[in-house]
Amino acid sequence: MENKRIYLSSPTMHGKEQEFVKEAFDTNWVAPLGPNVNSFEKELAEYVNIPNAAALSSGTAAIHLALRLLGVKKGDIVFVPSLTFSATCNPIIYENATPVFIDSEEETWNMSPEALRKAYEKYPSPKAVIIVHLYGTPAKLQEVMEICAEKGTAVIEDAAESLSSTYKGKHTGTFGRFGIYSFNGNKIITTSGGGMLVSEEEAMIERARFLSTQARDPARHYQHSQIGYNYRMSNVTAGIGRGQLLSLEEHKALKKAIYKQYQEAFSDIEELSMNPLNPDGDANNWLSCMTIKEGARVTPDMVMDALEAENIECRPIWKPMHLQPVFQEYDFISVLEEKGGKGSISEDIFNRGLCLPSDIKNTQEDMDRIINIVRKVFVTAHIVA
Ligand SMILES: *Cc1c(COP(=O)(O)O)cnc(C)c1O
Repeated sequence: MENKRIYLSSPTMHGKEQEFVKEAFDTNWVAPLGPNVNSFEKELAEYVNIPNAAALSSGTAAIHLALRLLGVKKGDIVFVPSLTFSATCNPIIYENATPVFIDSEEETWNMSPEALRKAYEKYPSPKAVIIVHLYGTPAKLQEVMEICAEKGTAVIEDAAESLSSTYKGKHTGTFGRFGIYSFNGNKIITTSGGGMLVSEEEAMIERARFLSTQARDPARHYQHSQIGYNYRMSNVTAGIGRGQLLSLEEHKALKKAIYKQYQEAFSDIEELSMNPLNPDGDANNWLSCMTIKEGARVTPDMVMDALEAENIECRPIWKPMHLQPVFQEYDFISVLEEKGGKGSISEDIFNRGLCLPSDIKNTQEDMDRIINIVRKVFVTAHIVA
């Protein structure tokens, strides 16, 4: 009883999901593609207000297809934020292209427009730019999109963490030539696993559907002129997605309430800051995160140790890609040193930050438990009384 497990962000089901899944079973439309897939695409596209969507097996698959559709190939440069989950940039390597990692800015933790400009000085013609909206906070879209438009580079928006977040009233994922969403288990809604590729361009989404079903030419004999993938979403999982979509706004409201509660509960701890929100946007607060002031007596490890000791799940901030052994050979662009700083902003956020439990099934009791444990770490360090 007293050590109930609290999760970082686990699936939250409502029952409606099962009705759509049951329909798939009742009609034996367990496979192949079917009405749930078509409806899920249509319903998600309507929700984010874009005409075309292709339901896929994962968000990673959606990023991979977006790169394929843009013709990214061996030797091409792709700009991508360093501070993200590896799934953002792995597909660049699948195509033997070359990622160039871009540092974050402090105001939203996303791609720094200044560092992006600097990257263009060194690499004037990247094939694509991938933007991420980390932890649900929209990037500085106006600035970043303007630079990319000026240079004529196609943008892929990795909105895996930011479904339902908006920027100036428009959904994240609908600003770039392609947008991608993820329905992985811990995302704001889940299909147990899945993704979506969206675009204004109907022909591109048609091609995504073709490539994601093994790129079979229109002939009776199995004929192929291109390499395809098995990346399509199944009619069963799409049923889960249709049910989840009905609760997306509710999930968002609950995520926002969690963030707000942490923010208020920690407002007197000067050494602690919550992750930034973009004043031009409305975040889904997928994960609530915090950073600790440099030089404070409390470290993220101390907070994480204290939570884990009480059976509470938490996690570090994503470790920047330019610090990953697997991406060691690739370039990284930062403007921090020109400003007299050391290292990079993404590394600094990683060093000083952590993700707090952000599960929308948390009760008030759970929230109090988490808050008290975090506070106690600061009290013990004589930072607050
Ligand atoms: C979860 C995530 C992905 C990958 O989505 P999957 O559906 O798990 O493949 C990509 N980018 C970011 C930033 C993510 O958080």
